[in-house]
Amino acid sequence: MKVISTVTGIQKQLETTHRKPVGLVPTMGALHEGHLSLVRSATLECAQAVISIYVNPTQFNDKNDLKRYPRTPDSDLKLLNTVLREDDLVFTPTDSEIYPTPDKRVFHFGNLDNVMEAKRRPGHFNGVAQVVSRFFEIVKPDIAYFGQKDFQQVAVIRELVRQLNFHIKISSNPIVREPDGLAMSSRNRLLEPQIRKDAPVIFKTISRAAEMIRKNDIPEIKKYVTGNINERAGFEVEYFEIADDRELRIVESRKEMEKGKKYFGCIAVKAGKIRLIDNIEFPLL
Ligand code: AMP
Repeated sequence: MKVISTVTGIQKQLETTHRKPVGLVPTMGALHEGHLSLVRSATLECAQAVISIYVNPTQFNDKNDLKRYPRTPDSDLKLLNTVLREDDLVFTPTDSEIYPTPDKRVFHFGNLDNVMEAKRRPGHFNGVAQVVSRFFEIVKPDIAYFGQKDFQQVAVIRELVRQLNFHIKISSNPIVREPDGLAMSSRNRLLEPQIRKDAPVIFKTISRAAEMIRKNDIPEIKKYVTGNINERAGFEVEYFEIADDRELRIVESRKEMEKGKKYFGCIAVKAGKIRLIDNIEFPLL
């Protein structure tokens, strides 16, 4: 693999090797198996893989979160080296490469802008759209790989591609979990030991909730989810919503769930000082 930090460098290298299709995996580093599963898909499906590692300041609505976001450049490169081929590229730009001038663009994503993460993290998806569109312009990938872990992000990226007319296939990949069920996340390493021990309660609870839909309606399920998680010391549910994966229309009762759509139960939990998200598919009856 080759590690390159400049836009001109990455573009020159892509022109020289000229392998197609090009697969892009955007990441913020502190890599784990979840990221690596995307990288593996990219190398399986694409002759040229490009992995970006960039902690994008414009998507952090909480500046403390940005400051404490884990950065592990040496181990990231070591991990990538076990998966990537000789001509695959790791793009590690600085802020001035990505934003030579401040990015003032404002995106509008309709309902996607008004629910769940968008409501709690104002400006977050605008920042995601800024950085991802920059990477799309620089790398010009044929396929871009994202994790289903960031459920709302996938919907936003699909809408971004539609609005800006990018000819890029968006690949959405399954959530990779720790053996105890906790969804892998770069932020997991910031959890205090007792909170980390108890954190599997999140996936256990939403898994049970997905089973409950056969017999119980949504208000009851929501009550169960909030109650079961909040009873753990240090845990507080920010939201638990059931929504379809395209328009993210939140449903409040089973009869609102339409055939032909896919629904997911999406949760955000404050676990100690760290905010965790997860989701699971809810079966249609
Ligand atoms: P991040 O570095 O957090 O921006 O994540 C980079 C990409 O990896 C995003 O598309 C995430 O959705 C994806 N990702 C993060 N954690 C996981 C996971 N546990 N399973 C699958 N994909 C993940």
